[in-house]
Amino acid sequence: MNSAVTSIKLVLLGEAAVGKSSIVLRFVSNDFSENKEPTIGAAFLTQRVNINDNTVKFEIWDTAGQERFASLAPMYYRNAQAALIVYDVTKPQSFIKARHWIKELHEQANKDMIIALVGNKVDVLENNEDERKVAREEGEKLAEEEGLLFFETSAKTGLNVTETFVAIGEKIPLKT
Ligand code: GDP
Repeated sequence: MNSAVTSIKLVLLGEAAVGKSSIVLRFVSNDFSENKEPTIGAAFLTQRVNINDNTVKFEIWDTAGQERFASLAPMYYRNAQAALIVYDVTKPQSFIKARHWIKELHEQANKDMIIALVGNKVDVLENNEDERKVAREEGEKLAEEEGLLFFETSAKTGLNVTETFVAIGEKIPLKT
């Protein structure tokens, strides 16, 4: 056991309304809101978790998904050690957008950045599997090809939200 705190700068990227802010709200406050105000520009939040007896402090930049803010994204991912690229499993367009973000990060971000591909809103499928527009296998395949972690999440129920952050934390070398 050691008492050093490792800070991980993490950025969320993805199309508007896929649930980026909701994932952060679930992770930081264990809360969810059906009527979230859109993020303007970017929001900054922190959360600490214990990973293998170490305290890891996530410093989270939640960027706005709107196209008009896209040019600001490099400011946030340039210094980040980790990224969540989020899409909505019920919105094929958001998966296409996720592919663009992966490409951009591979070209522009730190080479050793830990990236997780996240398919959000899987709770919607519990009532109606027809709502699924991006197969789990498609997400898994893309993540494997690109060397990313992969999770399907629900910010609404909390499914896999903390698990995603912990998996990232486990990949980042800890200060001792
Ligand atoms: P952002 O623009 O990517 O940050 O998306 P938001 O977090 O603002 O979420 C957009 C909308 O989707 C809001 O109405 C949320 O309540 C809703 N939402 C977010 N995550 C989930 C989820 O996991 N399941 C469901 N059913 N709705 C979600």
